[in-house]
Amino acid sequence: MVQFSDVPVVGQVGYIEVNTAFQNDVSPLKVDLIYGTFRSEDGSIYLLPVVKRAENMVVNDTLNHDYLSPTGIEGFSKSACRLLLGDIEKLWNDGKVFGVQSIGGTGALKIGAEFLSRHMNCTTVYYPDPSWEMHGAVFSFSGFQNKIQYRYMNRETLEIDFEGLCEDISNAPVDSVVILHACGHNPTGLDLSKEQWRTIAEIMKERKLIPFFDIAYQGMASGDIEEDTWAIRHFHSEGFEFLCAQSFSKMFTMYNERVGNLTIVQKSGHNIGSLKVHIERIVRSLYSSPSNHGAMAVFQILSNPELYDEWSSSFKAMAARMIELRKAFRKALEEEGAFRKWNHITDQKGMFILLHLTDNQVEYLRNFHHIYMVNSGRVNVTGLNFTNISYVAKAIIDTLRKN
Ligand code: PLP
Repeated sequence: MVQFSDVPVVGQVGYIEVNTAFQNDVSPLKVDLIYGTFRSEDGSIYLLPVVKRAENMVVNDTLNHDYLSPTGIEGFSKSACRLLLGDIEKLWNDGKVFGVQSIGGTGALKIGAEFLSRHMNCTTVYYPDPSWEMHGAVFSFSGFQNKIQYRYMNRETLEIDFEGLCEDISNAPVDSVVILHACGHNPTGLDLSKEQWRTIAEIMKERKLIPFFDIAYQGMASGDIEEDTWAIRHFHSEGFEFLCAQSFSKMFTMYNERVGNLTIVQKSGHNIGSLKVHIERIVRSLYSSPSNHGAMAVFQILSNPELYDEWSSSFKAMAARMIELRKAFRKALEEEGAFRKWNHITDQKGMFILLHLTDNQVEYLRNFHHIYMVNSGRVNVTGLNFTNISYVAKAIIDTLRKN
């Protein structure tokens, strides 16, 4: 008989391993640049004041603790789809746009991957090299046999390898799913230009590929909520059927409430009833139905004009803080180490800076300077502050000189 002790021995990897090491480090110098959580100047996790207001409203107003349906709060999903695509009233009523509340952005990717694998017979997924670490895992756990990374960043020039990207997706078999970061690419901070998006859309249409957008940083790349959906709206206007996983964790600074939405856009709505049933079955088998609190708070903000205005102006302040930190970090590094170019720090967008460090260098920073970051030196910009920025810059230059 099989025993639990027979399971293969494995260790933690990726973000979880780095975070465990950070938690176990007792040094007062330690710096956390690991997860993409928005931090205040004092290092604490920032909570948008409007979220607290909306949460209080939810707590006061929720008298009914009955189960939600597997697809969640319809009004929430509709607002989420609207945030993505603009006016969707008619498309929604016609069953051409449909949303399902999910357990964060990861949950939306999972529901979408299960749906594509089980009901569309998709077996191949393409995602960027590099990408957010869970893309490959989510799709392979959902039965995708072929996981292929398309070229995205040229590691010599630290720019987008657009030729490589086009070549790779041009070779993708029909019905391959292609994951596209809509904005604020994680981890590179490099986004495609509108012209490049147009070309990608042409190739994907020609090759009959299925776009699966992932948007976790809407508004945090350009500072404008609508502008950051440009690529998605372009694909929509080009008549694609596609999916989009939305994470509200970063946009609403609500990481543990796990708020997300999967949007499905289809050409014809005649099959919408069956599509919903398939999605309901997937959700039932995964976690039965989602939770109310976080999604309801987001729904309050998206549907109440006063709360929405407050949210969008605080949101602009968050984007401005990230830009300011980028400038300060670049300056600090340039002052310490003129031997390397640091312009990419202010050229990249969004929450992350990719320092392009080797594994050895990342480890050295951790062991000798108590500074924690993930793969290739990906830094959460807001983990920096005006107290630690010069310490981090000095440590990076020391690491580069010695390794
Ligand atoms: N997609 C990308 C690109 C991300 O960076 C993240 C989180 O870091 C997610 C999805 C997952 O979002 P959530 O935490 O809401 O599951």
